Amino acid sequence: MATNPPEHVSNPFEQSIVYRMAVNQLRDAARHIDGIEPGIFSRLEVPKRSMVVSVPVRMDDNSTRMFTGYRVQHSITSGASKGGLRYAKNVDLGEVAALAMWMSWKCGIMGLPYSGAKGGIAVDTAAISAGEKQRLTRRFTEEVLSIIGPRIDVMAPDVGTDEQTMAWIYDTYSMKVGYACPEIVTGKPVELGGCVGRREATGRGVVYCIEMAAEDIKLPLGGATAVVQGYGNVGSVACDELHKRGVKVVAVGDRYAAVHNPRGIDIPALHRHVYENRDNPLKTVDGFAGAAKLPLDDLLAVKCDLLVPAAMERVITEEVAKKIDCKIIAEGANGPTTMKADAVLLDKGIFVIPDVLCNAGGVTVSYFEWVQDLAQFMWDEDKVNSELRKQMARAYKRVRAKMLERKVPMRTAALVIGVEKVAKEKAMRGLYP
Ligand code: NAD
Repeated sequence: MATNPPEHVSNPFEQSIVYRMAVNQLRDAARHIDGIEPGIFSRLEVPKRSMVVSVPVRMDDNSTRMFTGYRVQHSITSGASKGGLRYAKNVDLGEVAALAMWMSWKCGIMGLPYSGAKGGIAVDTAAISAGEKQRLTRRFTEEVLSIIGPRIDVMAPDVGTDEQTMAWIYDTYSMKVGYACPEIVTGKPVELGGCVGRREATGRGVVYCIEMAAEDIKLPLGGATAVVQGYGNVGSVACDELHKRGVKVVAVGDRYAAVHNPRGIDIPALHRHVYENRDNPLKTVDGFAGAAKLPLDDLLAVKCDLLVPAAMERVITEEVAKKIDCKIIAEGANGPTTMKADAVLLDKGIFVIPDVLCNAGGVTVSYFEWVQDLAQFMWDEDKVNSELRKQMARAYKRVRAKMLERKVPMRTAALVIGVEKVAKEKAMRGLYP
């Protein structure tokens, strides 16, 4: 018997449209899960613990500026909580809570012994120096120290943060506890106990999913066309992996600009333009000579076989969905598609590989990194990549089987698997005291 969705709970996250979207997805999944007491779902609608901190930073001009930081642990039921740290201008508590909730389902789908968490600082990284970013990161770490730890809550990179950010957190935490503690973060530099292949893991996992979906719909990848939104960690690696498989990436966009070349963009040349060009401090595709400039708003409507949103949430709205002309959408970003847009895409017969499955390669290799740091025994890249491929294939097959069995969209199937695992664990553990 399906359980009823729980009563509405009033909480401080609800002003956020992203949080409401995550809760509505949870309620939709709960309708397909039998035998769980509704009170369990009420508990899953709100995060276990949230911390909001004011972070004072000495700026380069000697002034003091205040930033607001967040760390939200959606659940601690399934193990240490795990999730990225995002630096972006408009980060707020509700967005971080939604991202933390999605992490719980993602870890459940992948069968990882983690619960979901996420963090964020409201800051425009383009407007601060490297020194300011370091001081901000170290002071934020100090402010959330009481709720993090290798067995409590482990951070990783997300939008606006990278290996260097994780190295500063690792160092700050280690100075506090008095010994080197690499397992406090994942996504660190390899030299500091990071895992080979972690930086590429999310984009690689996205492309492994694309391979499996293309096989399911009998779409040959050689010569297929792709459009990628976001050319950061996830988007740039996805472009590279697609290019290596003979896919023509015809358009790429980021926060500042989009570029288009119907004959296929030379991805190694684009990579050099963005990442190896001192005159490009914003690391943008803007100004790339090998493609024409495209209005940003037109990017997602470029006709292609494979569309990879790999930037921010809620970019595929109902209106955008109506203009999309592709066969597969592979969600590299978290929450890129609104629920109304989902309905339009379903109507159009577009194969959507949902975020909680598609971008789970990142947390999977983060798990490998954490295990290696705890065991003090490092793997080589072949082992990392083959384990990643194995885990992604297993999760993809389970989700696809659930989708066919329940006759639901792939997103619902993925969420049912993730939510059900956490809900069952909560039910078995019981309500304390
Ligand atoms: P990043 O900071 O490395 O790159 C973000 C990219 O998106 C940049 O190119 C930026 O210019 C672009 N962008 C930002 N705002 C945009 C906008 N409004 N329109 C178009 N482009 C915009 O971040 P990332 O780590 O690549 O993360 C991208 C997405 O993938 C996020 O949703 C993140 O939560 C998700 N994700 C990341 C990881 C990871 O391992 N890094 C894992 C899982 C999911």
